[in-house]
Amino acid sequence: MTHASDASDAFPLPYLTGYAPDLLAQVRGLIADGRLSGILAQRYPDTHEVRTERALYDYVSDLKARHMKSAPPLAKVAYDPRLQTVRNALGTHSSVSRVQGGKLKAKREIRIAALFKEAPADFLRMIVVHELAHLKEREHDKAFYALCRHMAPDYHQLEFDLRLWLTARELPAS
Ligand SMILES: [Zn+2]
Repeated sequence: MTHASDASDAFPLPYLTGYAPDLLAQVRGLIADGRLSGILAQRYPDTHEVRTERALYDYVSDLKARHMKSAPPLAKVAYDPRLQTVRNALGTHSSVSRVQGGKLKAKREIRIAALFKEAPADFLRMIVVHELAHLKEREHDKAFYALCRHMAPDYHQLEFDLRLWLTARELPAS
């Protein structure tokens, strides 16, 4: 059904594809009332100081040491300004294998969208947990999300709220 004043026309919510329609209706309500950004700022007041590649490497290594000691070491961790649209992942992980001294060695890399430099601390934690989990689980399946929740028990709430935050930062300033 379409209607001239259908709220979904005004707020297409590309970051929230797949969530339940009634939840999306609530989000559209908050946007229409101009309340979404304020609610998120209140819920996530803490910023972080992880602004350089060095600081990010240390941050990721620390989380990895705490939860995923057995995973192979990371060759590189970087902020990437090219990761920023809804079509791109917000983080990537890669593993480049090459033969070194007769042994097959994998160089593992994690890249985090540069927009997380300005994100609340909890959202940086969420995306790092997500990419760390991919060191063990490739697909977004049950095992993957179980590992995410092991590292961040509030993972699902954080992912939803991150999507709200990405939505809010693209709304026209009112
Ligand atoms: Zn993923």
